[in-house]
Amino acid sequence: MPDAKERVLIVGAGPVGLVAAANLAQAGIPSIVLESSDALPKDLRASTFHPPTLDMLDRFGISQKLIDRGLICPQWQFRDRNEGVVAQFDMGMIVDETNHPYRLQCEQWKLTEELREQIEASDMTELVYGVEGISVAQDEDSVSLGLRHADGSEEIVQGKYLIAADGAHSQVRRSLGIDFEGQTIPEIFLSMSTTFEFPDAIPDLAPIAYVTDPDEWAVLLRTPSLWRVLLPTDPTLSDAQIKDPDVMEQRLQKLCPKEGRYDLVHSTAYRVQERVAKSYVHGRIFLAGDAAHVNNPLGGMGMNGGIHDAINLSEKLAEVWFGAPLTLMGRYERQRRKVAIETVQAQTLRNRKMMAEGDPAARQAYHDELRAVVNDDKTHKAYLMRSSMLQSLKDMETVA
Ligand SMILES: Cc1cc2nc3c(=O)[nH]c(=O)nc-3n(C[C@H](O)[C@H](O)[C@H](O)COP(=O)(O)OP(=O)(O)OC[C@H]3O[C@@H](n4cnc5c(N)ncnc54)[C@H](O)[C@@H]3O)c2cc1C
Repeated sequence: MPDAKERVLIVGAGPVGLVAAANLAQAGIPSIVLESSDALPKDLRASTFHPPTLDMLDRFGISQKLIDRGLICPQWQFRDRNEGVVAQFDMGMIVDETNHPYRLQCEQWKLTEELREQIEASDMTELVYGVEGISVAQDEDSVSLGLRHADGSEEIVQGKYLIAADGAHSQVRRSLGIDFEGQTIPEIFLSMSTTFEFPDAIPDLAPIAYVTDPDEWAVLLRTPSLWRVLLPTDPTLSDAQIKDPDVMEQRLQKLCPKEGRYDLVHSTAYRVQERVAKSYVHGRIFLAGDAAHVNNPLGGMGMNGGIHDAINLSEKLAEVWFGAPLTLMGRYERQRRKVAIETVQAQTLRNRKMMAEGDPAARQAYHDELRAVVNDDKTHKAYLMRSSMLQSLKDMETVA
């Protein structure tokens, strides 16, 4: 592996690391992306791209490719399990604010696949698999990263700066001893993907539906090939109990009764955390994406917020690379940490509270509020500005 100091080290080849690498390459800055897996992960994770994320990805010519491989969703809705549609949101309300006035349903691995293609064609970026970042150190003009290879051998590589995009369990964050403050959500999230066409049974169902219920909220999401159902699950159960085929079948039948068994293609049960790193910037080392913040998936903000971090961080780092003071990176932390706390955490926690509200009066108040929001153009647009994360990018500009 070449060992040159004149490059940026990027730990992790998820959406955040690869977007940062691609943006640095466009600015003429070399980087090396170090990924612990043997190949890019292809598991089913984020599947929603919000409008400003697509606007950002336009610079790589990738948005259109995702659109071609995804599903455009101009509407989404809140529903009640028994009463049906509570409020339907129309993304046409924000047509003046974005080139992509819709949510795009498209699996996150398609983004990393497209980015990898660009990176492999670029002589600015190197992508190395099967190496795990295990420790970091820095001096006044460089960063050293300790790496472990699959065969157990270790080496140290150097760069001028380092971006930690190594996900929620970030080894770089741990190695720096940065607190990851927050909470663990009590329930397990069970995600099940099926070929069943829910609109055949629920004709007024939008491709993205948040279903409120005091006993068991649900999310129904259309991906290009499947429908995905997300349900809260008792955390005292084992993975085998949660994913027992008969139990999952019963839960799907309860949500939407149909003749015959559901064709279940994929299921995953995972714990959800709401945490934000105490700091994002440590000298020449910067945290981004899940390494910096994690949240529940209700609102689809995790990957999107991470990509917004990657763009903000790499733009500022490019300025620093070409002569601006390193202190400029402090603004990256102030802007993006504020968004993680005030937008992403606040909204995802509120979504969860609203969807699970058990008190009948409070539930009614939430539903009345949502109905009032979509019945007025001004509040309808304002809600969409926040839920699509466009507002967070505008508000961030006022942060010094
Ligand atoms: C089941 C599930 C469902 C989700 N659903 C949604 C959703 O609907 N909407 C949404 O917006 N978000 C969702 N998310 C969150 C979303 O997937 C993440 O926010 C997003 O992947 C963050 O990107 P990232 O690049 O920061 O981290 P990751 O995608 O986790 O990428 C980190 C990369 O770093 C590598 N790595 C880790 N440690 C090391 C190391 N020490 N050295 C080298 N490489 C390392 C990993 O192999 C990985 O490739 C979901 C997450 C999960 C788990």
